[in-house]
Amino acid sequence: MKRYQLLVLLTIVLLSVTDPSDSFAAIKERYEYEQTGKVFWEADTDETKLALTFDDGPHPANTPELLDILKAYNVKATFFVVGKWVEAYPDIVQRMLDEGHEVANHTYSHIYDEAITKEDLMEEIDHANRVLEETVHIRPTYFRPVGGYYTDDIIDAAIDLKQDVLLWSWHQDPRDWAGTPTTEIVKHVVDHAQGGDVILLHDGGGDRQKTLRAVKLIIPVLKHQGYQFVTASELLKPSPIFLH
Ligand SMILES: [Zn+2]
Repeated sequence: MKRYQLLVLLTIVLLSVTDPSDSFAAIKERYEYEQTGKVFWEADTDETKLALTFDDGPHPANTPELLDILKAYNVKATFFVVGKWVEAYPDIVQRMLDEGHEVANHTYSHIYDEAITKEDLMEEIDHANRVLEETVHIRPTYFRPVGGYYTDDIIDAAIDLKQDVLLWSWHQDPRDWAGTPTTEIVKHVVDHAQGGDVILLHDGGGDRQKTLRAVKLIIPVLKHQGYQFVTASELLKPSPIFLH
């Protein structure tokens, strides 16, 4: 059983003796969105597969270094790229694709706004898609909302543009974006690892040396435990959560 499912059960038990709370609504929303078959947080699988995902790139220094690390370990990952950075560094995105990684949409300008209108977000997503089509000639499968926000408008904007939405496993955000030390990033990811996880890390948005050092440690430890690292499409498509 996934951790969030336990949380749902626990919340239901608590609600039977207390008043309804906002947290229940948020959890229920996730379940309802998952039923669309187009919104994912992770895969419900017994297989020992994990997806490493990296947001906010491409970055001219961090991303090539990260690609070197992934290549050395023969690991495929998924990059949620920002359209304006794709325009600036298309060669790095081409390298991601050439080396077997998946490239996905993380808006054009990384606009951080939970209350963004559906129309404004559609333009952000579509603009990033146009840049990806013009520079590296791909149409991404997945979109990840900035900040992990998911409102009806955000989900509908993506679905109307035929993008699946991929958030991340709630137990796999080691907060590398907040300057978390390398050892804590590693410990968080390794301690919480379970098959089907979508792990949230960042190659863009600032100095990511701690993240890069963590990736160098996480991969061999989890490989030794029998885990395989796959792209988001490979993790999610064969056994999507809504079929269970
Ligand atoms: Zn981001």
